[in-house]
Amino acid sequence: MPEVIKADHDLFAKMKQTYANPASKLAPGAVFHAKMPGVTVTGYRTGKVLFQGKLAAQEAARWNTTTIANKNSKVTTHTDNLPTGFPSWSVLGSDEVGTGSYFGPLTTAAVFVTKNQGDELQELGVQDSKKLTDPTIIKLAKQIMRLCPYHVVNLDPKDYNRLIKQYNQAQLKALCHNLVLGKVLQKIQPQHPQAILIDQFVSPSTYYRYLNGQPEIVKQNVYFREKGESYHVAVAAASIVARYYSLQSMDQLSQMAGLTLPIGAGQKVDQVAVKLVQKGLDLGDFAKLHFANTQKVNRLLRNIN
Ligand code: MG
Repeated sequence: MPEVIKADHDLFAKMKQTYANPASKLAPGAVFHAKMPGVTVTGYRTGKVLFQGKLAAQEAARWNTTTIANKNSKVTTHTDNLPTGFPSWSVLGSDEVGTGSYFGPLTTAAVFVTKNQGDELQELGVQDSKKLTDPTIIKLAKQIMRLCPYHVVNLDPKDYNRLIKQYNQAQLKALCHNLVLGKVLQKIQPQHPQAILIDQFVSPSTYYRYLNGQPEIVKQNVYFREKGESYHVAVAAASIVARYYSLQSMDQLSQMAGLTLPIGAGQKVDQVAVKLVQKGLDLGDFAKLHFANTQKVNRLLRNIN
């Protein structure tokens, strides 16, 4: 039976290193291909790696992954040291967006996905929000919010600028994750998720140090993983819901500003920020002022005047 591994970025890179053979002819969409005794291995741009032949299972098993059943073939998901079967557990996942964007909010979401919903969400196309277009985000977010208990904390720039005087950005993120997770745990009572998965941005010890003194700290069955969406669809769902709220805020702020606010923190952002100030608007209502962009904007304004 063929085996498929859905590899995250790092795993895919390692597999490519192992199998890539410059002499191989590549099928459409393929990135590498290797023919070995008893097994051929093909890696696709989508991150899927297909193992075919008598030794398919044996070769795929080298990659420290857990196999879950699928209709057509066995699909294997990269699970690291997470418990066996983790991708099909009921999981409360959390993720945030907006940390690298000068304009717009910091938005954190948690979504609870039951055992039965995992496959359904995957079939709907729920995956890493960075790979999805805005219209797809909107469509999927609405479906997720209809199906799953969730909570969102959307810190608009004004609130963000107030809080960032008191906390560093990672600490603020930790507070937001803890808050949204706690809210969903309350909403789903008396149910409990089998695990909680946080899209990791600091080490677990730093995360909990940041939460010191908080009245409620979500600690039980919590796992941290970078690229959390590749370990459980609940994190992918949380990233989509967060992006949806963030998009809506960006639209509202753009309307308030009378021009389209770009995401990111590049030169384009500085130019738009200059226009806002020239219009007499308060940058603190639109942007995260502690970013280096603020100094650049002030410098640009000084040069103009
Ligand atoms: Mg994240």
